[in-house]
Amino acid sequence: MGLQPTWVAAVARILIIGSGFAGVEAIRRLQELGLCDRSECIWVSANSKLVFLPLLPALVSRRYRPGDVEWSVEAYAKRVGAELIDKRVTALEPGRVHLEDGEALEYDYAVIAAGARPAFYNVPGAEELSVTVYGVDEAWGLGEKIERGEISSMVVVGAGFVGVEVAAEALWLARRLGRELRVTLVDMLEEPIQLLGNKKASKLTREILEKLGAKFEMGRPVTRVYEGGVELKDGTRVEGDVVVWSAGLRGPGIEVPREALARGGFLQVDEYLHVSGLGGNVYAVGDAMAFRKDDCISLKMAREALRSAARAVENIAARLRGEAEKPYKPLITSCRPMAGIGLGPDQGVLVLGKKIAFKSTLVHWYHEKLRKSYAKLLSG
Ligand SMILES: Cc1cc2nc3c(=O)[nH]c(=O)nc-3n(C[C@H](O)[C@H](O)[C@H](O)COP(=O)(O)OP(=O)(O)OC[C@H]3O[C@@H](n4cnc5c(N)ncnc54)[C@H](O)[C@@H]3O)c2cc1C
Repeated sequence: MGLQPTWVAAVARILIIGSGFAGVEAIRRLQELGLCDRSECIWVSANSKLVFLPLLPALVSRRYRPGDVEWSVEAYAKRVGAELIDKRVTALEPGRVHLEDGEALEYDYAVIAAGARPAFYNVPGAEELSVTVYGVDEAWGLGEKIERGEISSMVVVGAGFVGVEVAAEALWLARRLGRELRVTLVDMLEEPIQLLGNKKASKLTREILEKLGAKFEMGRPVTRVYEGGVELKDGTRVEGDVVVWSAGLRGPGIEVPREALARGGFLQVDEYLHVSGLGGNVYAVGDAMAFRKDDCISLKMAREALRSAARAVENIAARLRGEAEKPYKPLITSCRPMAGIGLGPDQGVLVLGKKIAFKSTLVHWYHEKLRKSYAKLLSG
């Protein structure tokens, strides 16, 4: 039997905000460390569900169904002894969090795992006239339009990994159903998935998409979205029955002191994942955080969400034991990108760093394995 930890602090109230990959991982780690037994674990989430975001593009093509990629976290919360509150957090201050219905809760430690939201950059019409693929209903609804033959053209704004995956799934579905679908990807950058900084991956992704029938309008930002298409900076219009907006992310929109916010509304954290300006007991993890080590930025990916959530909880446990916290060491960063990009059911690209990329469908296997493990973990 291992040594039992010595706790120096009295019972603490630990608040986890969000039930995505990071939120579930934080709760899982709290339970593993025995913290929900000796402390009070409160779990606040706007929807009390885990949505497996990486498989949303596969809803578009009907490879998965909504029930395959989202699960209630209620039974799990009960099992681990966490009090689940199904409400949106609106604001956070040292020691207190405010909920959407005006209620306020006190906390000793808080972990913000509230993810990110699509960013529209004040482009006129973008928010009102485009669809995003950031939720089950949007992704499923987009596939429905293709299935019913309601659309024959689509503009995808943003050729990052979400945009390219959605484009590939949409084209694959149309092909399978024998429907006409013209898909144009538009981006201010010159190549798809350029932000990963791996030229070979960009080239392979473009090749696969072009073979599926996609067109590219690259190197010019979108200045307006209108009913039936988008306008680019040079005045060119790209027409589409539907505009899919996948051009970037912004922070979770929780009101916090100004010094807590980094560019894009993400929560600025230090090396231990403490949020600046909130008194030292608040951590941010996953997509919600802005984490930089030297010149390398932690990427907004599932693996980073899991690792940062575990680190934040381990740091809280260390403090309750009177031990020192450990700095977060990101794995997937702008300096060392790693990603599996699924481009329809039978194609994909694996990115390993800035130089290595090859065609691979490993990502499909990995997502399925992970999906099954969450289905099991969260089952009632
Ligand atoms: C279409 C798509 C495809 C992707 N593909 C991949 C991929 O192939 N590989 C990969 O590694 N990553 C991928 N990602 C990114 C990955 O899904 C994210 O990095 C990951 O989901 C981040 O986890 P998170 O827990 O930080 O945030 P989320 O998963 O976004 O969870 C946030 C949680 O917080 C809750 N919440 C939000 N605001 C509030 C609030 N104010 N109060 C209370 N609760 C709140 C939400 O309801 C949700 O439960 C993809 C993302 C998308 C959108």
